[in-house]
This record gives sequence, structure tokens and C-alpha cells, in this order.
Amino acid sequence: MIRFDQVVKKFGDNVVLSDLSFEVDPGEFVTLIGPSGSGKTTILRLLMTLERVTSGTIQVGGEYLSHMEKGGKLVPADEKHLRQVRKRIGMVFQQFNLFPNMKVLQNITEAPIRVLGTPRAEAEAKAESLLEMVGLSDKIDAHPSQLSGGQQQRVAIARALAMEPDVLLLDEVTSALDPELVAGVLAVLRQLAETTDITFLCVTHEMQFARDVSDRVVMFDQGHVVEAADPEKLFTEPENARTREFLKAVL
Ligand code: ADP
Repeated sequence: MIRFDQVVKKFGDNVVLSDLSFEVDPGEFVTLIGPSGSGKTTILRLLMTLERVTSGTIQVGGEYLSHMEKGGKLVPADEKHLRQVRKRIGMVFQQFNLFPNMKVLQNITEAPIRVLGTPRAEAEAKAESLLEMVGLSDKIDAHPSQLSGGQQQRVAIARALAMEPDVLLLDEVTSALDPELVAGVLAVLRQLAETTDITFLCVTHEMQFARDVSDRVVMFDQGHVVEAADPEKLFTEPENARTREFLKAVL
């Protein structure tokens, strides 16, 4: 579902990703771990097309994201192509980024109506069922400012799901939450991972969550994959010294 092929990303002289290749299978839940500055967020930003590759290619669902085919050749993607492929990808951020001037319902229906052309009644019915899934049916008419951080984050998850993405990117979704609100958000994500076909790529410092929910954990350092394994193996018998050192520091 996601494929990075020899991706290089530089910011000026700073080589953030060098020759990075990795794949995520359909329906798989993959978590990226590693020290701060190792390039994890850059990977998510490349997938969100907030950044462009310096070289190499990215594919999503078998389609090129970074590039497009033109006259039998692969050329860098233009804006129209990016918009098209980007529809398959949802993202939930650390800072929930809800529209503050809109009620919860409208936060969820806005993009399906405007971007996908979903009829309003259909978008609203879908939003209601998504709110039920994240346990917030009673907040449908609330404004974001009337919700706790954990509730806002659950609305943000419902909003991302309303676009019916094939891929959901999760960027430190619990980092801005008070500790007592983290569990509710993680429970919603765990349920989604177990009950949907969505492919997840997650960056988190919640090692216990990574261990519970991931099919595979990828340890990053300095823009390279150091080690990738199923969570039990990676957390209990890491092979690489760098992984051992990192886990010792965070666990
Ligand atoms: P992580 O998510 O693992 O903490 P990031 O992907 O955020 O790492 O950052 C990796 C490196 O890329 C850092 O050295 C950071 O300073 C650099 N970087 C990220 N975004 C930019 C940017 N827009 N401009 C310049 N440097 C950037």
C-alpha cells in the first residue's frame, strides 16, 4: 500500500533521508520509532505531499505519489496528480487542527462535501456513525473549544475517517494530551486497527501502544531503517545495538 524506493530527502545540505526503501502492506499497522530528528515526521510529510522527494520514488496503492507517468516516462508529479493520490491518505496530527469556528458535525462533513462532493445528508449520516464509533455522539453540536483535548483528537480521527482513506498517518497523536486522556484515544485507534482494512503508518513515543497494536515496528536512526520486526521481537530481543540503546532510554 505504501512503497518508498531509494528515497533521498535533503533540506539544503542536511540529508534527512538517504536511500530509504521500505514497504507497508495493505491493512498493516506499522509504527516508526527512533530518536528525535531521525526523519520520521519527514516520511509522513512526504506522504502528505507537504514535502517533495529530492530523489527516489513513493507509491501509494500501486500509484506513484511523488511522480507520474507522462509520455512513457516518470516525471515529478504536478499539483493535480498530487491532489488525486492524496485523497487516499488521511492524517491525524499532534495538534488536532480542528476548525475552531465550526461545530463538531461540520468539522467532519466539510471535506467530504467540498472535496468528494458527497451529498450533505449522506455526509451527515456518516459523521453521526463515526461520532458514535469514537464515543462522542453527544458532542455533535459542540464547538471544539468546548471539548477536552482527548475529545478533540477523537473528532480529528472521525474527520480523517470521513474521507474514507486507504492509509491513515498518525503523527504523535497523543503527545499534546494530558496523561488521563491518552487511553481513550489509543482505544479508538486500537479498535480501528482491528476492525477496518485501513493501512496505518504511525509515529509515536507511546511504546506500550506501539507494542500492543502494531504488526511491525521500524526503528529509524539518521534517516535509515536500523531494524524492522514484529513488536514482540523488536521490544524483547532487538538485534541492533542502536535499537537496544534507544529502547533502554525510552522504556
Ligand atoms: P523526527 O520526526 O524523527 O523527529 P524529522 O523528520 O522531524 O525527525 O526531522 C529530521 C531532520 O530534518 C531534522 O534534522 C530536522 O531539523 C530536519 N527538517 C525537518 N523539516 C525541515 C524543514 N522544513 N526544513 C529544514 N530542515 C528540516
